[in-house]
Amino acid sequence: TTAGSTTRTVTARVAPLGSRLVLALVEDRTREKRVEEVRRDFVANVSHELKTPVGAIRLLAEAVHDASDDPEAVQRFASRMLTESDRLSSLVQQIIELSRLQGDDPLEMPGRVSIDDVVSAAVDKSATEAAAKDITLITRGDHDLEVVGSEEQIEAAVSNLVANAVAYSNAGSRVLVTAKSMGDTVQISVVDQGIGIPAQEIDRIFERFYRVDPARHRSTGGTGLGLSIVKHVAATHGGEVSVWSVEGQGSTFTLTLPLSSHSSTRLAGPLSVA
Ligand code: ADP
Repeated sequence: TTAGSTTRTVTARVAPLGSRLVLALVEDRTREKRVEEVRRDFVANVSHELKTPVGAIRLLAEAVHDASDDPEAVQRFASRMLTESDRLSSLVQQIIELSRLQGDDPLEMPGRVSIDDVVSAAVDKSATEAAAKDITLITRGDHDLEVVGSEEQIEAAVSNLVANAVAYSNAGSRVLVTAKSMGDTVQISVVDQGIGIPAQEIDRIFERFYRVDPARHRSTGGTGLGLSIVKHVAATHGGEVSVWSVEGQGSTFTLTLPLSSHSSTRLAGPLSVA
């Protein structure tokens, strides 16, 4: 851009120390611009995503209004309104969560986080959805592992992985959640026997609002933000998230976090979903 190139010309003429300073400023400005672009994209996406459920709720409200003499139709429209407003509220919730994570704020009150607690909370949260699809949720692995960080964030990350595993699995299948200590890290894996992810999509699923199949996503009620939250939580905690998947057979998401040095391990049970 013009602003950028003007600054660069100045760089060439100033003294070494000054030039370093100007260069640093140029870099800073480039970074600022990138941050600003990302922010603008995010706002545009958010507006688009919010318009869909808001529009649907409006249409359904009109339908309820017009169908006031048909109780059965009113019931049907009202229940769809409930679904759409639930979707809207989880979307808003996740947008808030993600924008908090994207800020440069340090972790709120980092503390010792029990992986046992995180895993059982995440499994509890998906228990109703799993039961509705006759999906068996199994937890295995090491106990008494601890990491340092935000319990709320780590729980949100693991809950998102478990919720996805249930949402993208067929009725009657199994979802296995394991925690294992590996050197100075803990690996929390969520293994499902679900629909899997096509190889060409796998790089994109961590992007905000990205979904492999937007039509299917509508019925699962997802927001497209879950995995970007997982990725951010991993990054803020000095960890990472990886995925292995075979289309039509299932997926394994693994969240790796640095282990708090005071963790102890106790092995329990083999790791197999079959
Ligand atoms: P969503 O709210 O749509 O689930 P996510 O960010 O959590 O959004 O996931 C992005 C997309 O990645 C999903 O829409 C889905 O297509 C795919 N995906 C995530 N987890 C799984 C899984 N366990 N099995 C198959 N596909 C998955």
